[in-house]
Amino acid sequence: MSFPSKQVRLTLLALLAAALAAGCAPGPQLPPPVPVDPTAEAPAPVEPEPEPDSGPVPDPGPGAADPEPADAPGGREVQLVADPTAIDVLVNKQYALPADYVPPDLVEPNVRFIFTEWHERRLMRAEAAAALEEMFAAAEEDGIYLAGVSGYRSYEYQEALFASYVSTDGLELAERYSARPGHSEHQTGLAMDISGSTGECAADDCFAGTPEAEWLAAHAHEFGFIVRYPKGKEHITGYMYEPWHVRYLGRELARAVYESGLTYEEYLQAHR
Ligand SMILES: [Zn+2]
Repeated sequence: MSFPSKQVRLTLLALLAAALAAGCAPGPQLPPPVPVDPTAEAPAPVEPEPEPDSGPVPDPGPGAADPEPADAPGGREVQLVADPTAIDVLVNKQYALPADYVPPDLVEPNVRFIFTEWHERRLMRAEAAAALEEMFAAAEEDGIYLAGVSGYRSYEYQEALFASYVSTDGLELAERYSARPGHSEHQTGLAMDISGSTGECAADDCFAGTPEAEWLAAHAHEFGFIVRYPKGKEHITGYMYEPWHVRYLGRELARAVYESGLTYEEYLQAHR
């Protein structure tokens, strides 16, 4: 499937980052230009798919609070997670993080990124960062050179990001690949988008099937990560296939989820 509006999104992202940086000196510097294939075709229209909400509603995951309906965009009942700091916290379209939640132990993993400047996207929680370093090192031993694309994102950054996607692609499509603020795993500091070291196909459909994507699918769990949005599970996870997005759960839980063959939502429903 050709990913829609990739170039437009990247351009908007760069402009957005520039605007954010410009407004808060001495804040983060401009991110480097993201490699864009100038020969890429114009975005193709995407056929609308059935609402993801038509799928089964998973039970509350670990850390889920008692039902506490908040603003429910699109008619969904949204609950705040009870413990945002839990390593196994479930964050999705149903369960949200508080807007003011910032993970307590964000650090910068010592790994390659596809950009050179400092940015909050370099950060992860300490335990996840250490595991990421191990995973990247192990990949290199297998001749696979990974790079970080996007780790921690603040509520405010996600808010701006999501708004830019909505303005480009419209709400319905944007919701299939981007989270509303408070609903992004990136705000947990436990997620990282990963590409190959060239940055080619970073956070793009064309990452699927690459040696890097295959390696992650086969080995991420050995280091405590799962590929969080598997193929064909959009009706459960709420998101399109994202072979680049890994979520840290710790080794024991990640291995169990991997071996179950289930999404994290399904795994929690089956094991509670
Ligand atoms: Zn991601």
